[in-house]
Amino acid sequence: MAVQKVLIVGAGIGGLGAATALAQRGVDVDIVEVKPDSHVLGVGINQPGNSLRALDTLGLLEECVSTGFSFAGNDYLDWNDNEIVSVDSGLGDERVPANTAITRPALHGILKSAAERAGASIRYATTVADLVDDGDGVDATFNDGSTTRYDLVVAFDGVKSPTRSLVFGPEVQAEFAGFGVWRLQLDRPAELRRAQVFQGISAKAGLIPLSEEHMYMFLVVPEPGNPHHDPADFGDLLKTRLEGFGGIMGQIRDAIDGPEGIVYSPLIELVLPRPWHKGRVIVLGDAAHTMAPHLTQGAGMALEDGIVLADEVLTDRPIEEALTAVSAQRYDRVKLVFDISHAILEAEMQVTAETLPYAVAGMRAELPGQTAFFESKLNAPFRTPQLRTPQPTIGN
Ligand SMILES: Cc1cc2nc3c(=O)[nH]c(=O)nc-3n(C[C@H](O)[C@H](O)[C@H](O)COP(=O)(O)OP(=O)(O)OC[C@H]3O[C@@H](n4cnc5c(N)ncnc54)[C@H](O)[C@@H]3O)c2cc1C
Repeated sequence: MAVQKVLIVGAGIGGLGAATALAQRGVDVDIVEVKPDSHVLGVGINQPGNSLRALDTLGLLEECVSTGFSFAGNDYLDWNDNEIVSVDSGLGDERVPANTAITRPALHGILKSAAERAGASIRYATTVADLVDDGDGVDATFNDGSTTRYDLVVAFDGVKSPTRSLVFGPEVQAEFAGFGVWRLQLDRPAELRRAQVFQGISAKAGLIPLSEEHMYMFLVVPEPGNPHHDPADFGDLLKTRLEGFGGIMGQIRDAIDGPEGIVYSPLIELVLPRPWHKGRVIVLGDAAHTMAPHLTQGAGMALEDGIVLADEVLTDRPIEEALTAVSAQRYDRVKLVFDISHAILEAEMQVTAETLPYAVAGMRAELPGQTAFFESKLNAPFRTPQLRTPQPTIGN
């Protein structure tokens, strides 16, 4: 096997998934993570059917489904809780749910345990200081001064990816989209068993069930100039941005009495041109493609990347050919998700008081068909059938 020892930079969702996929197939995997420990910030994360299929490939479907909350589709309403349209998801199948939302710490814990069970090692508070690729291997020097040689280096180091800058130059950066997302975990009302999405004026909010006890709310709004918000002000800022919402989102706004638990994320976007590798270093996950979270596909795209990588590099052929095949196989799928997510973001943020009735009519007429279209693409297999390696036997 040409690829026997791999370094993964970043122990996030994509890095841990790729480490599991490679280590389950017998590869010696080291992961380095710049954070001091495995603590993850954030509220919930939805895993649609295609992402759950990727987790299934890693042997983790049952654990994710039993830990999270599965739901069948989205109910769209206006910002006064008037129903617009309900859309059942066509993702998944009799075995895989359409959607399973889960807390970020729980998903992280499941992936970390899987990577370690499969034999991958994780070093925290560690990063790459330098990479020297001589064609036959890569010498990685770490921040503690040590150097180790690898057959392949895989960067899953997130949207600001220092490895991407090292390999493709510092000018390749994700761009602020002009909008931000506010999120908060809350108690779930018993009747909330599907995602609810509330269209307002230049604002979209939503509720996602997370467990029998909890849900999370999100709010997407313009954030002109990409401001830095002081976390101490998060409560007041979120309340202000929820002005105008009636119904349940209005009740949630009125109950906010401080910044505790509120997470703010500016929306940034990038699709790296192909190929996503140079020599023996490849950039994947958010480091290669960061998209608006409107289809809740970011983690799924990162997990799929890691599995396709394992499929491709463990075939018997030159590394250049295998790595070229990775981004060739991934690019169109990722770009479709990126483009649709961006189009939804722009359309919903352009809704004014005058255009709200037309937007509502358009959503009612268009959303079922649009959803069926992109879900048919996402339900298509993400792996080249002849390269699929057998279901993992190690670490389940
Ligand atoms: C508001 C919002 C909501 C979202 N909701 C969803 C959703 O519902 N469903 C979904 O699927 N996706 C969602 N996403 C997207 C999803 O979170 C990401 O796509 C996913 O986390 C990408 O995984 P990754 O491993 O590529 O990057 P990350 O998860 O960001 O992991 C990168 C890791 O690399 C580490 N790192 C960074 N630099 C270095 C370095 N120099 N050395 C070592 N380590 C380093 C970081 O500390 C981090 O641990 C959302 C995103 C946002 C912003």
